[in-house]
Amino acid sequence: MPGGVSSPVRSFASVGGEPFFVSSGRGARVRDADGISRLDYVMSYGPLLFGHAPAFVVREVAKAARGGTSFGAPTEREVRLAERVTRMVPSIEMVRFVNSGTEAAMSAIRLARGATGRARIVKTDGGYHGHADSFLVSAGSGVATFAIAGSSGVPSELAALTTVVPYNDADALEGAFRRHPGEIAAFVLEPVAANMGVVPPRSGYLEAARELTSRHGALLVFDEVITGFRVARGGAQELYGVEPDLTILGKILGGGLPVGAYGGRRDLMDRVAPSGDVYQAGTLSGNPLAMAAGIAMLREIERRPPYAELERKGALLEAGLREALAEAGAGSSVAYQRVGSLSTLFFTEGPVADFAGAKRSDTARYAAFFHAMREGGVFLPPAQFEAWFVSTAHADADLRRTARAVRESLQQVSGD
Ligand code: PMP
Repeated sequence: MPGGVSSPVRSFASVGGEPFFVSSGRGARVRDADGISRLDYVMSYGPLLFGHAPAFVVREVAKAARGGTSFGAPTEREVRLAERVTRMVPSIEMVRFVNSGTEAAMSAIRLARGATGRARIVKTDGGYHGHADSFLVSAGSGVATFAIAGSSGVPSELAALTTVVPYNDADALEGAFRRHPGEIAAFVLEPVAANMGVVPPRSGYLEAARELTSRHGALLVFDEVITGFRVARGGAQELYGVEPDLTILGKILGGGLPVGAYGGRRDLMDRVAPSGDVYQAGTLSGNPLAMAAGIAMLREIERRPPYAELERKGALLEAGLREALAEAGAGSSVAYQRVGSLSTLFFTEGPVADFAGAKRSDTARYAAFFHAMREGGVFLPPAQFEAWFVSTAHADADLRRTARAVRESLQQVSGD
């Protein structure tokens, strides 16, 4: 296995050292192969809104498995999950299930290109939308962590069709439309950037993106793989009141099983095969185990909306952290940014509004901090440019303990 891992950031390459191997997860904790248990803020990078192995998900997945793991024919669970998605995310009138966020994003831009008859897409600097060729241009997440502009293997002819604009900069977006009149199929963005670390949208930015795309005949595509079902029941589009034409989903939708989805306006989704002429398919798409996990997650969200609790817990962590930062005398050299249960501690002066700002972070200092936290029993993302995820399984005492670990770790880091 290249780097010993199935996905690059897991290798600890940017923070140094050897990754531990996880043997199990329960609630807010992961246990490693040596039997050491740590409080987890990686949380599989987002799917685990209710922590590891919630009984209501495990039960439904086991039940589904006993009935057969894959059929290659329609099943009722797909319909039930589609009904929930379209009810919970009002801009999604129709939905297609796939197996990952990457697949969903790749398919959404094929649809955008097919529906508009245009080839160019616009994305944000530091925005991550999976590893499809068109998106591996100035991407966030692991691409940012390894400080590479793109990827070998992406033809320059294809990369040339991706225009990159800074996040939170409506003038730059307007400039892209001016430079490429009639060429842009879609503007794709994370409505809350979470793959350069967490960067909230400036007031008016999402509205401007909506207005500019509409005015220029392009589609607005929100990548809500992280924010979907996390920042609100209906995602960031509900929280900020801006409706995209297409939405990309993943993570929470699959409750820890491999699921992605794209959906949106009926007239657009009707262009997808077999209704329409934009081809997209999948042997395991709509997989019964994955659908069962998704139904269990969304049913729990509808029965007991967790958003007030997640905001309270996020705020509790923030308060503890700010106190720890002040005590460690680190207040001005770091920036803690949070949207609900998503947050990042940037090792740079804040506020961070875009990727250029995020990249000013002292990643060596983050690495030292990461290891100190790990020693202190807290598992943070092994990279500066990732979000920390709080789940409902994080108890108040866990969050307070985390703040203490932050204080001790910062003292260690500055004492280096
Ligand atoms: N979009 C966003 C916003 C993501 O955060 C990610 C993954 N972190 C993806 C797309 C890609 O999803 P996947 O890893 O499931 O392919």
